[in-house]
Amino acid sequence: MDNNLEKERDLILQEYSADYEDENPAEMIIYLSLTPEIHYQIQLNFKNFPEKPEIILPSALKQEIGDPNRFLTHLREWDPHNPPHIVEIIRELEGILQHIIYPNDEMENVMMEFNAHMSGPYRLHVLLYSYKMKTYEFDIIHKKPHPPSLSFSPELEKILKVNELRTLPKWPRFSLIDIVREISRKIDNRTRILDELKKLEKRNDIQKSVRRSLNGKLTINTRIQIETNEFCELEIKLSEEFPLAPPEMELKNVSDDKIREEMNELLISQYNQWQHATTIVELLDDVKAFLKNKSKLICQICHHYKCPKCGKPIQTQIRGISGENECRKNCADCQASFHRCCWVEQIKLMRKCPVCLTPKTILF
Ligand SMILES: [Zn+2]
Ligand SMILES: [Zn+2]
Ligand SMILES: [Zn+2]
Repeated sequence: MDNNLEKERDLILQEYSADYEDENPAEMIIYLSLTPEIHYQIQLNFKNFPEKPEIILPSALKQEIGDPNRFLTHLREWDPHNPPHIVEIIRELEGILQHIIYPNDEMENVMMEFNAHMSGPYRLHVLLYSYKMKTYEFDIIHKKPHPPSLSFSPELEKILKVNELRTLPKWPRFSLIDIVREISRKIDNRTRILDELKKLEKRNDIQKSVRRSLNGKLTINTRIQIETNEFCELEIKLSEEFPLAPPEMELKNVSDDKIREEMNELLISQYNQWQHATTIVELLDDVKAFLKNKSKLICQICHHYKCPKCGKPIQTQIRGISGENECRKNCADCQASFHRCCWVEQIKLMRKCPVCLTPKTILF
């Protein structure tokens, strides 16, 4: 074996990890580890040394930084009569790579606030977590002074498109950190809304229709109906800030106008006491419970319309006809409605009205 080649090879091995076959020691694969995440395999052939060696970069890297014969001074100015050591070329290459995989100032800000690392030249890889630890990934490619460009993973593309971002076209007025924050907020908003809609979908007792308006707001029209056919209709608006901002719930229609005001109060208190983890379904369940509570046709003991004992309703739907088709008792003191069967059992036990607590001794 040529002593010169062996010497060149050994100089490389002192500094870099590399592979080669014994029969071809001048054909090496050099492993460059620039960060814990970025590694490159560089093919090197210097069997004709001191003639100019051949350096082959991975194709993706070559696309990003070009032909090493042009950007490496050692190769560009190669002189076979006064050649540098091969290891010096690798050092030069490593230096250049180190420089371009170094985050710029805007990228550094993103790395402080989010889970992000450099994944290639001018390329920052960002990982965002959302509900139920679901992850969304994307790359920011940013070679200043050019504006940044973004590349979303297919999973992220399903819920958000790059052209929906408001901050990106306004770079540099908005910097990378503003762009990533917007993406993060939008992901949280959309995954949360998808989750809410899935929960709503499972509820057969709540009619709903959903539409998205141009300003990004989502409107859900719902109708909650209880077994007495009493109902209310609510319009729920979810802004792009949801769930940081509460849902706006508006009462559109209610079967009993007398409870409209009280129901509006309930909606206002839900709005004011909004907590991010509350779900829309939970809010609607509160509304439904309220509806049942206020109904004169729902027994305030068993909370049903039809009596669990005799099967008759508190009141038949046709006014003026009453009697044997009904199972009804109203408390003379508070006017609350009960099934007669439920009332009898309750008075035997409590000896008072379960709503107003007025003592009751007469069973019927
Ligand atoms: Zn009852
Ligand atoms: Zn009954
Ligand atoms: Zn009472």
